[in-house]
Amino acid sequence: MVQTLPIFKFFRNLRRRRVLQRYPIDPAAFHAAIGDVPLLARLSEGERENLLRLATLFLREKIFASSGNLDLTEAMKTRIAALACLPILHLDLDWYAGWSTVIVFPTEFVRPREAMDDIGVMHEWEETVGGEAWELGPVILSWADVEASGRCDGYNVIIHEMAHKLDMLNGPCDGFPPLHRNMAAPAWSKAFTHAFDDFNTRLDRGEHTLIDPYAGESPSEFFAVLSEYFFERPTVLDAQYPEVYALMCQFYRTDPRQCTHAPVMG
Ligand SMILES: [Zn+2]
Repeated sequence: MVQTLPIFKFFRNLRRRRVLQRYPIDPAAFHAAIGDVPLLARLSEGERENLLRLATLFLREKIFASSGNLDLTEAMKTRIAALACLPILHLDLDWYAGWSTVIVFPTEFVRPREAMDDIGVMHEWEETVGGEAWELGPVILSWADVEASGRCDGYNVIIHEMAHKLDMLNGPCDGFPPLHRNMAAPAWSKAFTHAFDDFNTRLDRGEHTLIDPYAGESPSEFFAVLSEYFFERPTVLDAQYPEVYALMCQFYRTDPRQCTHAPVMG
């Protein structure tokens, strides 16, 4: 978590209050932009008001750009901002400090990859992805994947990339975001390592998993995919890895199982 001096905090809060007064999102436009997202329909009225506040600030503090001839409308940006702010609904926008740009492609996009193997040979290939988060750089999203997010089925490209951004706040992406003062780092490491090893053991055995197998790629992908399930299918994650679920409740300061404002397709 980026530490801010009190004087900077004071002026930042003042600036944010002015933004909320001068550039409020019309509640009707906000509802129109997010109205068909089942995940957001679960929120209480108070949470939706807070989401509107955070999304308003997100839209002013982040720069949006489109690529591939995508006509990025205000409604699309509002939907992205709302979904992006769900993980920090009970935290603060400061958790998204250190980066400023959201780039949106119409559909999945191709990214170059490279990795060195065990005998020192560099391999290069291309990968088609629906989203990407760069350390201290932009978040890149496919609009088609944004539209597929928030359906309470476990897939949510925005939550996934925002979880990477939270993870990067204290260094390289490793599945270990900065924890709150009342949380114990060893407990986080133990629970996540045990769950990650168990998940990969089950994949190696060829078991069908209710959680996307992509979670087994690395500890950072495990945290990002589990964050998707935490918000989208909380009962599935809680049933599979209750210790991890409890820690994520502490980290995100919410328990999505308690959301009863709309049908929960856990
Ligand atoms: Zn990822």
